[in-house]
Amino acid sequence: MNNVYQEGKDFAKSYILPFTEMTDKESRFPEESFKKLGEKGFLKLLIPKEYGGLGKGLEEHAQACLAFAEACSTTALCYMMHNVALMCIQTHGSDELKRRIFTDVIEDGKFLALAYSEFGSGTHFYIPEMTAKVNGDYTTFTGTKSMVTSATYASYYLVLAPSVEEGKINNWVFPLETRGLSFDMSKWNGLGMRGNSSGPMHIDHVTLDSSFRIGVEGSGQEQVFNVVAPFFVTGLGAVYSGTAMHMFEVASNHAVDRQYPDGTTLANIETIQVHIGNIYKHAAAARAITLEAARAGANGEADALAKILTARIVASEAAIECGRLAMRVGGGKAYNKSLPTERLLRDAYAGQIMAPSADVLAVWLGKALTGQMIP
Ligand SMILES: Cc1cc2nc3c(=O)[nH]c(=O)nc-3n(C[C@H](O)[C@H](O)[C@H](O)COP(=O)(O)OP(=O)(O)OC[C@H]3O[C@@H](n4cnc5c(N)ncnc54)[C@H](O)[C@@H]3O)c2cc1C
Repeated sequence: MNNVYQEGKDFAKSYILPFTEMTDKESRFPEESFKKLGEKGFLKLLIPKEYGGLGKGLEEHAQACLAFAEACSTTALCYMMHNVALMCIQTHGSDELKRRIFTDVIEDGKFLALAYSEFGSGTHFYIPEMTAKVNGDYTTFTGTKSMVTSATYASYYLVLAPSVEEGKINNWVFPLETRGLSFDMSKWNGLGMRGNSSGPMHIDHVTLDSSFRIGVEGSGQEQVFNVVAPFFVTGLGAVYSGTAMHMFEVASNHAVDRQYPDGTTLANIETIQVHIGNIYKHAAAARAITLEAARAGANGEADALAKILTARIVASEAAIECGRLAMRVGGGKAYNKSLPTERLLRDAYAGQIMAPSADVLAVWLGKALTGQMIP
């Protein structure tokens, strides 16, 4: 795969777009698209070549998420989380864990999800309240994760739990079929991202041996900061700038196509031209800073963190602003849902609240720029 963005666009046209509307309308996980993501190699994008993957990194992760989000925000978001989870296994997992999970992804099209947030600590997902009791090589877990995207569809769930070392956390892998694991899918009724299947996961005395822990005891925070943060936050930037770009496409096509009885179109009206220009401006700026953040992150540049945080904030805000303007361009047709604009606007609203939320990130950005500690 040489040009991940273009190959992602081609893939999305054939295997994502046909399901996008149904994904939202029926609040249905994009299973068909995920099956194809496996068959066409996208699920193994970040798996190292020596394990049979494509060996790509942060830049290609952003490109793939962007390309998919330009067709379906839900599919892009679920895919993005799979990549983040894979990266934790890749950077910190034991060879045994890598072989098991990478083989399942490559040979059986299995995928991963993040079960981090809890009802109590909410947006501060790196402070788990669930319990983890250690007995020799075994740990027994109890608690509830509040919103788990791809719940019941993913085969492996990364779970943050307290470490035996005071104040530290661990990152674990829970296989779907683990005894004591259950999901309550009746609780997912999102405003947007309706196909995400983001229901709670109940963990009732789940017992696992230490081979399911990713990395050494107490290394969870380090994984959250060095792996989850760059891949997740850049990935969110890509998902929401892709959503904004999708809005531009819908609004500009509509402006050109919508004809009045005298033969003129919406695109002939100056105010509409200004709206289209502004939608493009916001979407293109979000996309540009996201790709630049991914490039800086991949090269370990000094200002990468600031760029990554900025990208996610700019993209979340751009998607909502593009949606607001696109509704004005779309008029009654957008409001009455004959255009997908309102769906895209509903999807866009998830951007500002997904942890770490845009407000929390705004504080982190200020800290990063002034040399303060980020939690
Ligand atoms: C579509 C979608 C998919 C999701 N998928 C997953 C998933 O796969 N895995 C997962 O683990 N979680 C997932 N989540 C959960 C998400 O990441 C958050 O943890 C969750 O939305 C927090 O909700 P809450 O009501 O508990 O927020 P609260 O913690 O109650 O926060 C409420 C509001 O207050 C603001 N706030 C709180 N503290 C601060 C602060 N210190 N500074 C500034 N503002 C603050 C927040 O920005 C937020 O908007 C998903 C959420 C959405 C919307």
